[in-house]
Amino acid sequence: MFRSFLIKYGEIGVKGKNRYVFEDALMKQIKYALRKVDGEFAVTKDKGGRIFVEVKSVEFDYDAVINALQHVFGIIAFCPVVHVEDISIENLRAEIVKYVDEVFEDKNFSFKINTRRAHKSYPMTSMEVDASLGEAVLMAYPETRVDVHAPEVDIRVEIRDIVHIYSKEIPGTGGMPVGTNGKTMLLLSGGIDSPVAGYMTAKRGVIIDAVYFHAPPYTSDRAKQKVIDLAKQVAEYAGPVYLHIINFTDIQLAIYEKCPHDELTIIMRRYMMRIAEHLAKENDCLGLVTGESIGQVASQTLQSLYVTDAAVRSMPVYRPLVGMDKQEIIDLSEKIGTYETSILPYEDCCTIFVAKHPVTKPKLSIIERSERKLDDVIDGLLEEALAADELVIVGKD
Ligand code: ATP
Ligand code: MG
Repeated sequence: MFRSFLIKYGEIGVKGKNRYVFEDALMKQIKYALRKVDGEFAVTKDKGGRIFVEVKSVEFDYDAVINALQHVFGIIAFCPVVHVEDISIENLRAEIVKYVDEVFEDKNFSFKINTRRAHKSYPMTSMEVDASLGEAVLMAYPETRVDVHAPEVDIRVEIRDIVHIYSKEIPGTGGMPVGTNGKTMLLLSGGIDSPVAGYMTAKRGVIIDAVYFHAPPYTSDRAKQKVIDLAKQVAEYAGPVYLHIINFTDIQLAIYEKCPHDELTIIMRRYMMRIAEHLAKENDCLGLVTGESIGQVASQTLQSLYVTDAAVRSMPVYRPLVGMDKQEIIDLSEKIGTYETSILPYEDCCTIFVAKHPVTKPKLSIIERSERKLDDVIDGLLEEALAADELVIVGKD
């Protein structure tokens, strides 16, 4: 029955030239989200800046379209629209009755018909059309009632070359279209938190590149595949993700060999940040993103975050989960579909060499002194790790 979808998007802060950037990015992301949906679609914009998804094929997968549109940041809500080609009032009366029949199982509601004419040449005024269509609905379904001030259902009728009828509004995810706010480098592990952090950042219109550190043979191919799968799931929202996979084994072994064991985690984290910063610069990213949240674990005390952060010199580190409780993060990961993958039990490189009692209140000067023990080897190791960078592009299928 539905032949198009009217896309409702927020316009706050997108005035003037930015408006086109916003609309173009939104249309691009809508096409991206629809790429795997059965059916043929066109994404169009009318003179008033209204964006539609038009169904071009006879058949299409309605539920899959709904699901796809709910993965596009920047959409506040969208309305499935019925097209009527014979715009005579007799036919519109029949169509509106059919529409109400199919869309509302329970007819016990108050409604209002809200007609707009694009062509003022239509032989009736908007108010006359409202009255005529309202009467047709009331006659067909006596349990409905008209309420022009606070109707439960607002039925829009737009008369153009064809007529559009819609009333149902399906909520979108909000946010801003990916591609309107630059790019960041996400430190993506196999845990619950970092995929959610990536989602939160992409939601603000930011393109996500990602980096994953693994330590073969201590971490397995399955652990790596898990992170690729997580990146794919984030890419359903964020668009294709360029995932860098860095072999961290030799750096980890060197730290293990030369530095105090209770400082392993924090020193490791600082080298991860340094490598991520390097990759970020090479790829035009304007910041790093992590899944850290204050106080969640030993390496995320305020002192630990301070010392971790100090390893990054040239760009901000965003921690979108900073104020969230674990349960809130879990709820969000369930909603975006990463949770099931995140809880698969494969080892992470952070967990293989952990000390029994890691420092919870590291001091920057002490950590820096420990890192100096790596002076002879670290430059070479960093270079090797970066040279062996394996790039996987996910979400392009
Ligand atoms: P997550 O659930 O995201 O793994 P976590 O609660 O397990 O987080 P940590 O293991 O301390 O916390 O990691 C904190 C953050 O550091 C992660 O959210 C992620 O951004 C980054 N990180 C940790 N390990 C890796 C890794 N192997 N590769 C890339 N980034 C990592
Ligand atoms: Mg982790």
